[in-house]
Amino acid sequence: MVDYVSVHGGHSGEFCGHAVDPLADVVDAYERTGYAWFCLTEHMAPMSERFIPDDEKPSSVSDLEDRFRRYFTEARRLQAEPRRAEIFVGFETEAFTGYVDTVTALIEEHQPDVIVGSVHHVHDEPFDYSPAYYQRAIERAGGIVELYCDYFDLQLELIDALEPTIVGHFDLIRIFDPDYKDRWAVPSIADRARRNLDRIGEIGAILDLNMRAMSKGADEPYLSAPWLRYAIENGLKIAPGDDSHGVASVAANIDRGIDALAKAGGNTDWPRPTPYRLP
Ligand SMILES: [Zn+2]
Ligand SMILES: [Zn+2]
Repeated sequence: MVDYVSVHGGHSGEFCGHAVDPLADVVDAYERTGYAWFCLTEHMAPMSERFIPDDEKPSSVSDLEDRFRRYFTEARRLQAEPRRAEIFVGFETEAFTGYVDTVTALIEEHQPDVIVGSVHHVHDEPFDYSPAYYQRAIERAGGIVELYCDYFDLQLELIDALEPTIVGHFDLIRIFDPDYKDRWAVPSIADRARRNLDRIGEIGAILDLNMRAMSKGADEPYLSAPWLRYAIENGLKIAPGDDSHGVASVAANIDRGIDALAKAGGNTDWPRPTPYRLP
């Protein structure tokens, strides 16, 4: 019997505009499902008007900062309760302009156990939000191949600047591209993906084998098969992330994701997060 764990999840309607349910209910769902451990990794507060997501409007920056503080208080309260599963409390980053200073300030204030290093913006366009935003990001990058390249360059910058505990949904940039499997044969993209995986291996970060891709219609998790194989061949740390956004998505598609890992030759002796420190 393979242990259920999650390196990325625990978004809740209480603290995120595009999730549902109170955080305590999400934590109970993990406990009921028999998870050995899981990370609570709510999205960070934006700290600039410009980067307030559409689904959080009309909240102000200070509303969202207050909510983020309440998130940490509640997550720490839930972590301290007696339970079978172990909880790691942290947050998921952004990579919009100024993110290093913002993330650093949040780390200093909240002292998270873990951080998930994620890129949801390229050229400050929130490309994973909708096909329309994805198209805008392509235009800003000057083409789809350029968008992939810029995404992986920004991801490397984030990895170097923050050395995150976990790297979130490694190839999220494929999200609205029906032809993404063809992109992996483009040398400028493939070289960057391999370069980033090599760097992730060097710093010992855990790759988030992210199941949310399949809830959105994909037939495989993030990472796509070629990168999953490369990561396994090179001995990188990999662990499941359900990226739950409410009770119903706790453990969603986790068995399919673990199957994909096993098929690619990976093992299910999950690496545990080590305490986060800024580089
Ligand atoms: Zn989310
Ligand atoms: Zn994310």
